[in-house]
Amino acid sequence: AAAREGFIRKTKTVCTYCGVGCSFDVWTRDRHILKVEPGPGPANGVSTCVKGKFAWDYVNSGERLTTPLIRDGERFREATWDEATALIARRFTDLRAAHGPDALGFIASSKCTNEEAYLVQKLARQVIGTNNVDNCSRYCQSPATMGLWRTVGYGGDSGTIHDIELARLVITVGSNAAESHPVLATRVKRAHKRRGQGLVVVDLREHELARRADVFLRPRAGTDFVWLSAVTKYILDAGLAAHDFLQDRVNGLDEYRASLTAFTLEYAEAVTGLRAPDLRALAHRIVDASDGRAPGGVCILWAMGVTQQVGGSETSAAISNLLLVTGNYGRPGMGAYPLRGHNNVQGASDFGAMPDRLPGYQQVSDPDVRAKFSVAWDCEIRPEAGLNNTTMVAAALDGTLKALYLSGEEMGLTDANADHVARAHEALEFFVVQDVFFTHTARYADVVLPASPSLEKDGTFTNTERRIQRLHAALPPLGDSLPDWMILQRVANALGAGWTYTHPADIMHEAASLTPLFAGVTYDRLDGYRSLVWPVNADGTDTPLLYTERFNFPDGRARLYPAQYLPRVEAPDAQYDLHLNSGRMLEHFHEGNMTFRVPGIAAQVPDAFVEVHPDLARERGVEDGAYVRLVSRHGAVRLRALVTDRVAPGELYVPMNARRAEDAVNRLTGAQADAATCTPAYKDTAVRLEVLGTA
Ligand code: SF4
Repeated sequence: AAAREGFIRKTKTVCTYCGVGCSFDVWTRDRHILKVEPGPGPANGVSTCVKGKFAWDYVNSGERLTTPLIRDGERFREATWDEATALIARRFTDLRAAHGPDALGFIASSKCTNEEAYLVQKLARQVIGTNNVDNCSRYCQSPATMGLWRTVGYGGDSGTIHDIELARLVITVGSNAAESHPVLATRVKRAHKRRGQGLVVVDLREHELARRADVFLRPRAGTDFVWLSAVTKYILDAGLAAHDFLQDRVNGLDEYRASLTAFTLEYAEAVTGLRAPDLRALAHRIVDASDGRAPGGVCILWAMGVTQQVGGSETSAAISNLLLVTGNYGRPGMGAYPLRGHNNVQGASDFGAMPDRLPGYQQVSDPDVRAKFSVAWDCEIRPEAGLNNTTMVAAALDGTLKALYLSGEEMGLTDANADHVARAHEALEFFVVQDVFFTHTARYADVVLPASPSLEKDGTFTNTERRIQRLHAALPPLGDSLPDWMILQRVANALGAGWTYTHPADIMHEAASLTPLFAGVTYDRLDGYRSLVWPVNADGTDTPLLYTERFNFPDGRARLYPAQYLPRVEAPDAQYDLHLNSGRMLEHFHEGNMTFRVPGIAAQVPDAFVEVHPDLARERGVEDGAYVRLVSRHGAVRLRALVTDRVAPGELYVPMNARRAEDAVNRLTGAQADAATCTPAYKDTAVRLEVLGTA
């Protein structure tokens, strides 16, 4: 390599494909990506998965956006940056003058950096004057954050991936970690095999991790809350709870215990289909692993099988309640681990792209917080929470939201009830889409801005552990595309903001100065493979393990949250007789805009499919590889059938990554949502299956 000095560059970056946050060196020559070489990354060591290793060629795709586009009738024409940003400024100014600042909305991307999320919310709040700003955690992990806010106070994993390795028992609920968080799952598999770590998997599908587990439990769809509450009640009633921990560190036991009255093991068996003796055995397994005299304890990992339900926040709180009752917070090898999906879904919320929270989860309703930001930004901060992603769609349809600025999200395919979302996009008077490709959603835009992907930008991402890591630009931006932070600054300055950031480090410096959670975050402290896990004190000490002495409430005590079961609203019936589940697959990322443009990956898995159990396939005459049509109350798609016993007989499973927008799974999902956070209940969908044949 030394002989090629000057030609080959080696650049440290962080993977953009999931919340594990693997870091590695990218070797490049000109624009060619020669190889990806894992360095001493704190989240991954020397491991990467197939996406982290091989899924980068999309950055040189001929389909990349390389110049701004402006709508011209039914077509788009190329434009200069000055022309595009001037048009945005004029239309935003006019719409704000005519309808007020809340007629505009902003959506940040969880693929983008912390610094870029910070600028999106600053653009909304300082430059426009609205709290209508959100990010795609609204589509996945907001209920997990809500469940943790209710019970322990911080909306993040309570420890690190290393803590998961140290646990005596790992329980995963509604998480296909081997495909969604592959390197993290590898570490669980290793601890299970080499160290005898207990592994319980609770899921609708018998996926890889389920097949490796000591115990695999398959409850009925949408009933996790019931078995979790029943197991917790059994532990309390049997006198097996961590009494000293509850007495010393937790409030609300009496009220919580009273709310559990109905949740007997027999009731849980009737609702979930899980046998009462199996739940009793699980309770004892949890209690045995929670013995405080031995190192480690219980880690519960969960993902969108839990959160994308009408009771997602309630079930997330139930998980945290179970951990509190058994004393599984505050020491290494235990705690709550909502597995964040996107690379920076944690950071986009952390840095304030939320309608009710400024950076660091400082509430817009707090007058002291507003005063601090008002002085720093020389503006008024509104005290009322703004619209979130879901309510922005409703507001566009009822005509109160006139303009939307969408950064880096294929909202038209990843939001639920896609046809409904398309109507909302059509109803907007002005729509700006900023992305790497001309997305399906961009078809509805008035201006499309070409953004750079992660390999072309500097900044930081925050992974599922709350770990902030640096990424460096391995390649220059393609054509006239720009890193999102530069685009946002151009737009803000066209609106008269006068921002003068010269590098993302300037943005982080400002964010840290206003945010106690990141007080000690500096680029110097993040140099190379170094990282910081928030909260980060001003002296640079960070907090890999939360709640060692205090929970994040004024009295330092955790709060048990009373149980409330919210059953599914779209249960199968005579017309739509099958439950539809959806999720990620190993090879593709999200809707697939990036990974379907990587030839090697696309050749492996060229399109989405629907998994059908062999019994159901026999009963309905479905052959493996044949086309079927799935029809829900909201739409229809056409997919090839994959006959497999991974799914239960009454279930279907479709990955969220489709090559053709017409067949995206969210044409089938509906408008029902988690009651507390408006996160769409993607997993609460009933369909019927129609056989089409093999053509
Ligand atoms: Fe790591 Fe996730 Fe990227 Fe795979 S997709 S390399 S597990 S960060």
